[in-house]
Amino acid sequence: MMPRRLVVLGHPIGHSLSPAFQNAALRAAGYDLSFEALDVPPSQLERMVEALRLEAAAGSVTIPHKESLVRLCADVSRLARRVGAVNAFRTNAAGQIEGHNTDVAGFDAMAGSLGVRRPDAIVGCFGAGGAAAAVCAAVERWPGATVRVHARGHDRAVALVSRFGPAVRLATSEAELLDGCTVVVNATPVGLGGGEFPIAISALPRDADVMDLVYRPGETNWVQEARRHGHRAADGREMLLHQGAAAFEFWFGHPPELNRMRSALEAATRA
Ligand code: NAP
Repeated sequence: MMPRRLVVLGHPIGHSLSPAFQNAALRAAGYDLSFEALDVPPSQLERMVEALRLEAAAGSVTIPHKESLVRLCADVSRLARRVGAVNAFRTNAAGQIEGHNTDVAGFDAMAGSLGVRRPDAIVGCFGAGGAAAAVCAAVERWPGATVRVHARGHDRAVALVSRFGPAVRLATSEAELLDGCTVVVNATPVGLGGGEFPIAISALPRDADVMDLVYRPGETNWVQEARRHGHRAADGREMLLHQGAAAFEFWFGHPPELNRMRSALEAATRA
């Protein structure tokens, strides 16, 4: 069903880049809608989702609501259940909220652009939250590839790994995470504020590619430094763009004009 309103729900939400590139995609497609950022504290989420359902709205979901949306949707896609998080929703013709996860498609597309999606890939994923779950759900579908998960909170890493099959394994130390990895992924917020590195550049396997899911104006320092040391590296903007494009398709049934979205995102993240 054609959405009558489009929103992104988060708390806080001021940092969200989604309105910039989704509004560009809406204009390019000729839709008379504007994409609004709504700051929704957790205590207001259920009431807000119900109000949006009555308005036949659709939208995106960001921190800290992705896990809660699984419970609040009448229908949740298999992929969103696999990840345990909904980051895109829509109201269907029966007036019910349907939830989906497009972070998996976003990560997959980012991996494709960087050229790391290959059958023998060994992905070292630092972090065990929602973004790490999307990484696991993506990589478990690459034939022959494996993911190792390591996080500062051991219990959270164990819980995440236990939800997946044999392609997703626990690494009990940073050394175990990195040994022989072909790709190293930062799925923590480390680096969001500037100088901090999730993993020292000197600890990266020499030929490993680097995927930082964090994004900030310019690029993250970790990505810049990894590239300076000869690694292929990308920050989270490509994932952000492609999760947004997949969400647009989930709402409207056709893909957006990706180049228009990309230009708007680049303008919004120029250093
Ligand atoms: P989350 O659910 O809060 O999980 C974050 C993970 O990072 C947890 O394992 C957490 O450990 C760990 N962590 C937090 N601070 C840390 C620190 N200072 N040192 C070491 N580990 C730390 O968050 P998320 O949703 O997975 O998101 C993680 C990052 O990915 C965020 O920066 C987010 O912006 C980014 N992201 C990007 C995209 C994109 O499109 N590019 C999409 C999704 C997420 P604890 O459990 O111990 O706190």
